[in-house]
Amino acid sequence: MLILFLSFFGLFIGSFLGVVVDRFGTKQSVFVGRSECEHCHVALKVIDLVPVASFILLHGKCRHCHAKISWKYPLMECITAILFGLTAWRYTIPMLLPVGFVPVHLDLFLFRDLLFVSLLLILFLIDARHGVLPDVFTLPGIVLITAMNIWLGIPLMTLVVGGLVVGGFFALQYFVSRGTWVGGGDIRLGVLLGVMFGLSQGVLSLMIAYIIGAAFALVLIWRKKAAMKSTLSFGPFLAIAGWIVLIFGPYISQYYLPF
Ligand SMILES: [Zn+2]
Repeated sequence: MLILFLSFFGLFIGSFLGVVVDRFGTKQSVFVGRSECEHCHVALKVIDLVPVASFILLHGKCRHCHAKISWKYPLMECITAILFGLTAWRYTIPMLLPVGFVPVHLDLFLFRDLLFVSLLLILFLIDARHGVLPDVFTLPGIVLITAMNIWLGIPLMTLVVGGLVVGGFFALQYFVSRGTWVGGGDIRLGVLLGVMFGLSQGVLSLMIAYIIGAAFALVLIWRKKAAMKSTLSFGPFLAIAGWIVLIFGPYISQYYLPF
């Protein structure tokens, strides 16, 4: 029931996150002004804003000018719904329960996880599109996740060590390369993963991010879409690794990381 409800809720949050990402870098406020058709700029009616359903009912076209609506909107809504559903699902599988979980605080744990999932979605898309991981999302994320983890009774030391090691890993590369290998945003996203996961799961998320990043780079080189020298934004790989560790981390570290 909870899984279904949160997946459904995820459709609407996904729609909202899409607006946040679209309006990033423009002067338009996220909360002011109705969404409009990219083509004819007619404001969309409430009935045209229902996640996924509107897209299907309108056959993917604007009600007024019949211009095609980008499939990225329903895709974003579906991905958010799936991630929200998986986040709720993990709490039904004993093996996937987070460290320090107490059933009394299920709502708080879920809230923290969904906040984390949503932040990573925003950071994934903005980094993929603009090549930056803006402080306006990473810094409040670090503060909120740290505060919630302390509230949930996770030792402060665990969070500090996790944040310092995972963030420090990028800070080291940043200083050695004078900011050419990684950006300052990667340091902050590293700290966010560290305070979310603690040391061992935080390092696990780093390893997974590098495996996915390397695989992706190889595919690009193999398809000759990128030269050996070109650089990729690393944020999206960290975000994917964050989702994997959030949902499957306890399982992976129990069976594949005996140390
Ligand atoms: Zn239109």
